[in-house]
Amino acid sequence: MRENLIEKNVDEFLLRPNLLDYEGECREFRWEDVGREFEGLPGGGLNIAHEAIDRHANGALSDKTALLWLGQNGERKTYTFGEMKKESAKFANVLKRLHLAKGERVFTLSSRIPQLYASAMGIFKNQNVLCPLFSQFGPEPILQRMLKGDAKLLLTTKKLYEKKVRPILHELLDLRYVLLLDADEDENEKTLSYSRLMSEASENFEILPTDPEDMSILHFTSGTTGTPKGVAHVHKAIYAHYMTGKYALDLHPQDNYWCTADPGWVTGTSYGIITPWLHGVTNIVDEAEFDAARWYKTLQDEKVSVWYTAPTAIRRLMRIDSEPTLEYDLSNLRLIQSVGEPLNPEAVLWGEKKLKLPIHDNWWQTETGAIMIANLISQTIRPGSMGRPLPGIVAGIVHVDDEGVLSEVTEPNKEGDLALKVGWPSMFRGYLHNEEKYEKSFVDGWYLSGDLAYKDEAGYFWFVGRADDIIKTSGHMVGPFEVESALMEHPAVAEAGVIGKPDQIIGQLVKAFVSLKTNYEPSDELRRELIGFARKKLGVAVAPKEIEFQENLPKTRSGKIMRRLLKAREMGLPEGDTSTLEE
Ligand code: ATP
Ligand code: MG
Repeated sequence: MRENLIEKNVDEFLLRPNLLDYEGECREFRWEDVGREFEGLPGGGLNIAHEAIDRHANGALSDKTALLWLGQNGERKTYTFGEMKKESAKFANVLKRLHLAKGERVFTLSSRIPQLYASAMGIFKNQNVLCPLFSQFGPEPILQRMLKGDAKLLLTTKKLYEKKVRPILHELLDLRYVLLLDADEDENEKTLSYSRLMSEASENFEILPTDPEDMSILHFTSGTTGTPKGVAHVHKAIYAHYMTGKYALDLHPQDNYWCTADPGWVTGTSYGIITPWLHGVTNIVDEAEFDAARWYKTLQDEKVSVWYTAPTAIRRLMRIDSEPTLEYDLSNLRLIQSVGEPLNPEAVLWGEKKLKLPIHDNWWQTETGAIMIANLISQTIRPGSMGRPLPGIVAGIVHVDDEGVLSEVTEPNKEGDLALKVGWPSMFRGYLHNEEKYEKSFVDGWYLSGDLAYKDEAGYFWFVGRADDIIKTSGHMVGPFEVESALMEHPAVAEAGVIGKPDQIIGQLVKAFVSLKTNYEPSDELRRELIGFARKKLGVAVAPKEIEFQENLPKTRSGKIMRRLLKAREMGLPEGDTSTLEE
């Protein structure tokens, strides 16, 4: 997987990258210096909404577009930092009027509409905790999360309320209010009209001193490996958001930045709301779901310069055999970053070829709150690698023995647990109602991510698989990512998910589930061809012994292949928590 290094020639770039000397910055970097980029609250403390919105609105950026919103039906609206300040202040006043106390949780359930973004800031201003739900969840996942997260107020739309909330309302005994975004009148004393309340609210709101360690966001993980976990974050996380916005996303004031993630997932809040605004950058939000032509047109029409997306979207674009740069003007685009799943080397190279820009992979988790490891715009890409730790982040490959003693694996290219040295500001501060699991995630000052990886001689990290997904076959340990990436190199393959199928003789047998590109049909011949193709690349021991064609692989709603489901289905076992399964 080490071929095809992508070298960068910074002199050819549209803008000078924020980080040129990676090693130097890693040596010099101090988190305290990031703190100097913030203003702090007049009365003391640190609040996300003040740093992301108010300080810009109070200064030179007041009339700059903070949010450029593209509606599902072709609407296009812009909101300045000044307007966002007022809207969020009004919502904070609404929460205050409803006696929502500091630390109480406010859940949101809506598509990506402007009010969601302004409200998020209002929630921070009133020192409540934001818990964004993905609007495509059904009633049961909504109920489970609201109960677990101790929801006090829900902000949603009439339609979502009728369909998904009313059926579970009788079980939400601690829920005090539902605010309906598009209702003109209150339904009763508990179910209120958002617009009425907003019209009565003042545009001024003084944020009370907020401790950097106060809880700000409650996020649920993607549920790829099991029941989604509630993860608590604090205001101080913006130190990491600011730093990663500067170095990993290379944000510059003139950027038009588009993050395709929904705020129901951590990428959609950390990078779809907070980070661009910390940098005073225009944030583009598209309400609609994936559509190749719409996306290319958005990149063109909105002159997107920095684009943050996910492997699942890239693979969908790859499926369609097109020449986007001939059809669309993508000349403003200068950086593409991707997160959420392993990014096959094939996808990185596809970007280079078809978009004239490589795709930069980066790694992090709901728990880490911000990007930890990334390929940087100024640095050589090793396709298939997640890149190197950002300044201020210490990542390592470790091994924990049966007695619980941790040792660092210093030898290059040797697999182990991917871990982070405790001390980065956006580290989660707890798993909701699961102190034990939280404690267990830390050993000797390291946070154990649950992913397996190795570090090469140049310090680049390579994803092997989730600890749960590793396949033990004939005494070898096989990471599914390696097998999937090899299959992806075949022109017929659109997506691949690889599991270990229990086998009496060899322990586990490598089995691949494959979905094909539009112009290909499943056949025994193609199956044999793929097995042969993989054998040539990987050797007989690692290549899949079985291949099954599926039109679509099961994925989380955030677009990750659910290998645990492929496995459960293969073995006829219960499917477990499927609340985040895409329909
Ligand atoms: P759950 O914890 O509920 O099983 P999840 O781990 O998928 O779900 P997230 O926090 O959204 O929930 O995802 C983080 C995980 O996604 C990482 O631990 C890793 O397994 C995977 N991941 C994220 N980015 C990358 C990447 N660039 N390369 C490989 N894997 C990645
Ligand atoms: Mg996880």
